[in-house]
Amino acid sequence: MKLLKIVEGNFEELNKLNTNFKKETQRIRATIDTVHDKHFYLHKFPDLLFETLQLFPNIRHHHCHQGEQGYSGRDFDISHLGAPIQIVGDVIDTVHLVEHIAIEIQCQVGELDECSGLTCNYWEPENRFDVFIECRNPAIASFSCNFAVLLAKEILKGNGHDWCVDDILDIAKIIEKTNEFSLHTLARILNWSKKKTLKNMQLLEQLSYPLPWLRSAA
Ligand SMILES: [Zn+2]
Ligand SMILES: [Zn+2]
Repeated sequence: MKLLKIVEGNFEELNKLNTNFKKETQRIRATIDTVHDKHFYLHKFPDLLFETLQLFPNIRHHHCHQGEQGYSGRDFDISHLGAPIQIVGDVIDTVHLVEHIAIEIQCQVGELDECSGLTCNYWEPENRFDVFIECRNPAIASFSCNFAVLLAKEILKGNGHDWCVDDILDIAKIIEKTNEFSLHTLARILNWSKKKTLKNMQLLEQLSYPLPWLRSAA
């Protein structure tokens, strides 16, 4: 899976596609390509879903309106999984799960009660998808998408990673809440070593979290 680009906007057409989008809100559109064949994603989806729900149990409580437009051409029945999100048995399920991970991250970090999303598949090229996410702060929404894509990629690869999801969430939440960017202060608040704090700040930077030295460099 590859995140090609993220664009901010209102994308008015979304109001028709998902009536849960609040009309005047900001949204981002993340364009994502899948890079493996269909079999790869169908085969890996149950594990990806399972691991995702372990990391983000609250995704069970998401309302999903993805199915409202209707789907046809289902050729692989995984409806027995009983997932909290709509499953159609195609590659879009994986990208759609990324959408819900991104929404969950955004809600946790930005302390949003609810936000809507939508995942659309291109007609051509058929491995391209647009993920739309409603947001209050497009920078936090972009960070959430980058983080969700990285996480899904690492789970799909299956050889583990040397960072911890909860640590990244914790430091992102603290920065968002306190607007504090000093390494020393963050280390103290989180009760982490400076090394651990620095490592997680570097991860935030890689994931396009809005840190001030990036803002001023722009
Ligand atoms: Zn609903
Ligand atoms: Zn959904």
